[in-house]
Amino acid sequence: MDDRLFRNAMGKFATGVTVVATEVDGKAHGMTANAFMSVSLNPKLVVVSIAEKASMLEKIKKSNTFSVNILSAEQQELSMIFAGQLKEHREVVFDRLGGVPVIAGALAQVACEVTAAHVEGDHTLFIGRVIEISIEESNAEPLIYFSGKYRSLAE
Ligand code: FAD
Repeated sequence: MDDRLFRNAMGKFATGVTVVATEVDGKAHGMTANAFMSVSLNPKLVVVSIAEKASMLEKIKKSNTFSVNILSAEQQELSMIFAGQLKEHREVVFDRLGGVPVIAGALAQVACEVTAAHVEGDHTLFIGRVIEISIEESNAEPLIYFSGKYRSLAE
């Protein structure tokens, strides 16, 4: 099957956008990801899917922790920074939650420790046990991704 056909079909699934962040040797690293899902309520588990070519993969394996930051509609530039879509380097200052770097102003910040890693094809699924959560109490709208483009919710 053609890769483009598969990508186009999967792109029809509208999602929010997250930045997955971790820290190794005191250096925070972020990566834009929409392959994120809540897995279990008791215990509280989430999953992220990280490509084998992403430098984030080795970093999460080393740190055994990560955060998932659900971006607001105003944070498209951060999504582009952490997807390598901007040419120039931008400095990003991270907050901390449960000892893990998190993105200030995200709709929700979810700090996790890795409980399992499953290699599936060219991605690794990291199961994270949620250790702390922070929710932005404003009524900010989410950033949406659909068919390879950033979108926003319509009234
Ligand atoms: P790099 O390419 O090294 O880093 C990514 C970018 O983040 C670089 O430009 C880097 O400068 C910047 N950056 C990292 N840390 C910092 C910091 N501390 N301060 C400032 N800038 C920093 N890939 C997946 O594997 N899984 C997904 O679910 C997924 N979903 C995606 C969803 C969307 C909407 C998009 C646009 C991309 C998605 N990607 C996903 C692709 C992924 O975001 C890119 O391939 C990314 O560049 C891979 O990052 P990396 O870990 O290899 O790190």
